[in-house]
Amino acid sequence: MRLEVVESVADVRRAVAEARAGGRVVGLVPTMGALHAGHIRLIERCRDEAGWVAVSIFVNPTQFGPNEDLTRYPRTLDDDLARCRDAGVDLVWAPTPSTVYPSGPNSTWVEVPVLSDILEGASRPGHFRGVATVVLKLFEVVRPDLAVFGQKDYQQQLVIRRMVADLHIPVRIVTEPTVREPDGLALSSRNRYLSPDERGSATILHGALARARDAVRGGETSANRVRQILRNTIESTGSVRLDYAEVADADTLESLERLDPHTRAVALVAARVGSTRLIDNLSLTD
Ligand code: AMP
Repeated sequence: MRLEVVESVADVRRAVAEARAGGRVVGLVPTMGALHAGHIRLIERCRDEAGWVAVSIFVNPTQFGPNEDLTRYPRTLDDDLARCRDAGVDLVWAPTPSTVYPSGPNSTWVEVPVLSDILEGASRPGHFRGVATVVLKLFEVVRPDLAVFGQKDYQQQLVIRRMVADLHIPVRIVTEPTVREPDGLALSSRNRYLSPDERGSATILHGALARARDAVRGGETSANRVRQILRNTIESTGSVRLDYAEVADADTLESLERLDPHTRAVALVAARVGSTRLIDNLSLTD
């Protein structure tokens, strides 16, 4: 099948209707483009689970804060389309901001407040409101049977799952494990901002998470001591400034006091490496 690339809502709806008429299960992978092997893994997972795969490519302005990297965020559409073609994607939807926000960006919002105000949301006020709003729009236009998100953005997939449950949206959310470089660095479109020195330092995020998980596997049950391991490891690295290091319930993101075999726990970190903000996370109990 040939990759179809469309811009308008009407063209997406027509393409999805044709796929459905052919009896296909419809999958969606939302992205902001600058596609890398992490995105491709999501596409492959989607292809495994759905007969027909749509990828959205949209740098969503409402999830960026006023001092964030919206204008310099990488835009590589030609390369993205080539990757989508190679990965067997059926439809790419690459809308403009005025297609996604026909009445302007402040007209309608979706909020998932409890999960959105902590961690990434505390550091990036309004971020998850922008994410939830744009993902609901994508879901309303495509009406996918399933949608695939990355564990790399751990809090994001929880926010989406909560929105889907609370609004009774008939879509199955699939979360795909984080794809990493051989040295552990999580793939991210923002890694291309890193200088060679910063790229070297950035591995400490995964290094700290792996140390924390080893401590828990070794019997550590105090969440505070695990947080300390995360903080000490990250803060000992030049040109890395820690934003947060948290040990939380894997479903609710509530801060944990103790690690026990009955509670799934996740460690989440955010740090600035030079001027680039990176996030990562690791399950502590799998
Ligand atoms: P983005 O283009 O950054 O908005 O990401 C689009 C989707 O790709 C999100 O669901 C991300 O969680 C996911 N993603 C980004 N990086 C990775 C990675 N290294 N491994 C797996 N999924 C990822």
